Amino acid sequence: MNRIAVLGSTGSIGTSTLDVLAGQRDAMQLVAVTAHSRWQQLAEQTRQFDVPAAIVSDSSLVDSVDRSAFATGCEVRFGADALVELAASDAVDTVVAAIVGAAGLRSSWAAVDTGKRVALANKETMIVAGPQIVARAAETGAELLPVDSEHSAIFQCLAAGRREDVRRVILTASGGPFRGWSRQQLEAVTPDDARKHPTWNMGERITIDSATLMNKALEVIEAKWLFGLEADQIEVVVHPQSVVHSLVEFVDGSCVAQLSPPDMKLPIQYALTWPERRDCPSPKMDWSANWSLDFEPPDRDLFPALDLGFEVADRGGTCGAVLNASKEAAVDRFLAGEVRFTDIPQICRAVLDAHHFDPAPSLSELLQLDAWARRETIKWTR
Ligand code: NDP
Ligand code: MG
Repeated sequence: MNRIAVLGSTGSIGTSTLDVLAGQRDAMQLVAVTAHSRWQQLAEQTRQFDVPAAIVSDSSLVDSVDRSAFATGCEVRFGADALVELAASDAVDTVVAAIVGAAGLRSSWAAVDTGKRVALANKETMIVAGPQIVARAAETGAELLPVDSEHSAIFQCLAAGRREDVRRVILTASGGPFRGWSRQQLEAVTPDDARKHPTWNMGERITIDSATLMNKALEVIEAKWLFGLEADQIEVVVHPQSVVHSLVEFVDGSCVAQLSPPDMKLPIQYALTWPERRDCPSPKMDWSANWSLDFEPPDRDLFPALDLGFEVADRGGTCGAVLNASKEAAVDRFLAGEVRFTDIPQICRAVLDAHHFDPAPSLSELLQLDAWARRETIKWTR
């Protein structure tokens, strides 16, 4: 039995993971679930899967959570340190890292540090500390399996050839809800406009990041560290149908792509069962219907977040931590109505340019810079 802990089980990736696990009860056992504050949903999950351990990471809820709502015998713990202990625990074989934001970094690190398989949805782990994570995984034997659909696609396509024969990877992007919009229209975008994604149903933050193309910027950085690429080996193409999840081009010009309907259950399950493939509850392609696939270059003038992604992928060092933290804080300010949609990449640019660059930072330096970049973002005025 593969003993699985799902960190962030109440989120979009978390609930899709539980849908996958429901079909894999013969091989996988859910041994722990975690939420930040939605403890009622968490309690329901423990009853549904008879889970022996649960964590509510917001420790201020310790007195308001009704323990009797959880499965009989389920141990309920509180606080962010409990997440780290769980990720490092001998009672867990595989950690699904599905917390949103840099808040997921310490637990992802603990899972890598203890040599586990990590099904990595929390891309912020790679944005903030990609080189450190990859190096530590090589030391401990941890397996980093991408859950992000583009990176899962690249991982699958890479199996078609030798690593030294890869020329470049092509990340597909839906283009978000504002593809083809004018600058004026973009300046007037409201949080509710940005919450509507055309093809994917995801958590709030990644949905906003998809609208600015910041999510794709983060994915460029994620691809660089996960697959050991140079920034100029990565390309982004807009593909509105979100069926081709990414491609790998080999030196002979052959492009290998991975296709499936847009649904996260497939990449989640693949990260859990790899190298095996099993029947999956995700929808299948209908090859009997008439349909077409479109591709177009991204508009990098209207969506300057992409340039930030390539620049940060190229420079490395402290840049990822600063970009990610300022992006998270800028999105919070946008959602609070304090800044415009088009301010988000401008804020990130300003904070990135203002930071003291270190090409080889320690983990603690990265965490300090994360806090610094959030403070700078809160101070930012147009
Ligand atoms: P959601 O917002 O839907 O879920 C986030 C989860 O993390 C919830 O369980 C939430 O708990 C928990 N959480 C929130 N804040 C904290 C915190 N400070 N400490 C600990 N736990 C916390 O996010 P998604 O599922 O959309 O995304 C999760 C990760 O996966 C992100 O890194 C995202 O970029 C990545 N990803 C998501 C995709 C998707 O399709 N959704 C696709 C590819 C990548 P609570 O419910 O109590 O708030
Ligand atoms: Mg993605």
